[in-house]
Amino acid sequence: MAVDLVIRNGKIVTPQGIYEGDDIAVEKGKIVAIDKRGSFPETKETVDATGKYVLPGIIDVHVHFREPGYEYKEDFETGSMAAAAGGVTTVCDMPNNQPFCSTVEAFQQKKEIIRNKAYVDYGLVAAVVGETIEEIPKLAEAGINVFKIFMGATVGGVPAPDDGGMLRAFQLVAETGLRVGVHAENNAIMDYLTAKLKGEGRTDPLAHVEARPPVAEAESIQRAILFAAEAVCNLHIYHLSSKEGVELIKAAQEKGVKVSAETGPHYLLLDCDYMKKVGSILKMNPPVRSRQHGEALWKGLLDGTVEVIGTDHSPHTPEEKIKENIWEAIPGFPGVETSMPLMLTQVNEGRLSLMTYVKLASENPARLFNLYPRKGTIRVGTDADITIVDMEKVGVIDSENLHSKSKITPFDGWRVKGLPVFTIVRGNVVMKDGEIVGKPRGELIKPIV
Ligand SMILES: [Zn+2]
Repeated sequence: MAVDLVIRNGKIVTPQGIYEGDDIAVEKGKIVAIDKRGSFPETKETVDATGKYVLPGIIDVHVHFREPGYEYKEDFETGSMAAAAGGVTTVCDMPNNQPFCSTVEAFQQKKEIIRNKAYVDYGLVAAVVGETIEEIPKLAEAGINVFKIFMGATVGGVPAPDDGGMLRAFQLVAETGLRVGVHAENNAIMDYLTAKLKGEGRTDPLAHVEARPPVAEAESIQRAILFAAEAVCNLHIYHLSSKEGVELIKAAQEKGVKVSAETGPHYLLLDCDYMKKVGSILKMNPPVRSRQHGEALWKGLLDGTVEVIGTDHSPHTPEEKIKENIWEAIPGFPGVETSMPLMLTQVNEGRLSLMTYVKLASENPARLFNLYPRKGTIRVGTDADITIVDMEKVGVIDSENLHSKSKITPFDGWRVKGLPVFTIVRGNVVMKDGEIVGKPRGELIKPIV
């Protein structure tokens, strides 16, 4: 009997190794068999992966697709096209929408608005603000994947609960078996330094970096770790940017606190001096710091302290983003499409193995965000989410060609080697050779607890 799809002749990559000689058969969106090449002669569709690597679908647990509320920056269609183009099969979308996704009502409304628009699968993140803490159990029941607390000011102005509320929130999240993620920056420190720098007349890009020093991040991480230990709650540190942060997380993990961390390509590959070249384009919260911090993050990634590569895909318009006065520029830039080529280039340069990349960008995110084993692995019975990469293919990142509404990236003009050439979501090819194909069939994925 014919199956729906067979992926032939590829080299299958898992965190444990690379296996040659098997084909993958897909039926009704699931992997139904993995067996030696030529085992599945009858199929409706074939993907020939000769000479290429077959990866479990890449997962980006940190994107802002901006819908509802900020569709002029991005929407679920364009954001998910960017994801598919970047080899990403599942995203977790952030809640700083209008209205905030922080109540069951807002969640249901968002779910309806984005239905049938996404090319990739998605989980939704709920914001925890002061008034909605007690909604946590209901949000978990409704299908939220993860809860987010913005400990520092950010786009959309999601207010942080006070420390009492935060501890209560951690206790409630612990009961759900889900994870709470934090944007860890201390507002009081940043407000003080921002006022001081403005008072001195500073408007240059590096003033932004000075206004948000490592200690602002470290203080918030430390506090979140204390609360997570007290509440026995799974904690995730979004967009880790500092050496001090890596050290705190490592120490907490050694003590048995259930804390994970994510960093992104900009923190790994750029440093704050790059702002002298690209100006406010690189403005991000937390900021990209000196090389010393980037190296500490690399070390953390390779020794297992930092378990996830995410992008914080944050699209904005040029009018919002490009400013002479750094204080007037909005933080963030798109990243979901460029992350994989940038990181595969690092694989080609020998900085990490393809197996480690798969662990950081697929298996670990799936495990930590309650998507495993449905996502994050290639085995019989799982969703047929597959990213096929050509490690020899070279390209240049061109901001004009991004699928996001936002055509702004600090990586514009970067040469890359190693590109995704197929993105397959539950057996549906949604990207082939950089072109979006098929229909938006992405679904909301409820967490497995
Ligand atoms: Zn973010």
